Amino acid sequence: MRYLVISDIHANLSAFDSVLKDSQGQWDMIWCLGDVVGYGPDPNECVAILRQTKHLCLTGNHDWAVLGRLDINTFNEDARSAIAWTQSVLIEDNRAFLEQLPSSAEEDGFTLAHGSPRQPVWEYIMDSPTAAANFEYFMTPYCLVGHTHSPVVFELVDDGDVVPHLPVYEQPLPLNGQRLIINPGSVGQPRDFDPRAAYAILDTGEMTWEHRRIEYPIVETQERMSQSGLPFRLIARLQFGW
Ligand code: ZN
Repeated sequence: MRYLVISDIHANLSAFDSVLKDSQGQWDMIWCLGDVVGYGPDPNECVAILRQTKHLCLTGNHDWAVLGRLDINTFNEDARSAIAWTQSVLIEDNRAFLEQLPSSAEEDGFTLAHGSPRQPVWEYIMDSPTAAANFEYFMTPYCLVGHTHSPVVFELVDDGDVVPHLPVYEQPLPLNGQRLIINPGSVGQPRDFDPRAAYAILDTGEMTWEHRRIEYPIVETQERMSQSGLPFRLIARLQFGW
């Protein structure tokens, strides 16, 4: 099977569309690692497109916030106001879709979580010590996570240390049974100072993982955010990728 692995679409339709066009014909199923909504201007459109595909989608902390499953006072002011706006426009059908998403999954030899296998909705795996602690929490060789909005591969090496690898784009990484925690990065709000949409192609026949990055019409998304009255800081950050 070939999977389009994506995370953190965050209601950015232009970015999501560009990823789908760029990867067209190259995958059999989508694995989406959560945060379909929140921040961006097109929550209904993004959920609707995802629902039309063959997919496995997890829930993320922003999806939970929109559903009222967590206290949004833990979010910063801009994120909170985007959540409130999303709640006001999300149609019931799409809300019901978000309600039934699992917080983690084990599929085709891979563990999937939004944040981490230890705390699927919440924990950020930003560094090697956090990654090291998480290798005990999944039984498959590989775990795929999102949430940080930065693509990375954490590898557990023989002496128990964890080595982080920056993504090498458009180059298939062979999966040889080594233990890895892999993050494809964010479709709709990259935070690694590269504003391009991030995604990955996983081929479980060939056993390869390939990070990808593509440009999308950021201005389109920014204009729709302005029209919806979303916070200026959230609009500005898209063009810098932070
Ligand atoms: Zn997110």
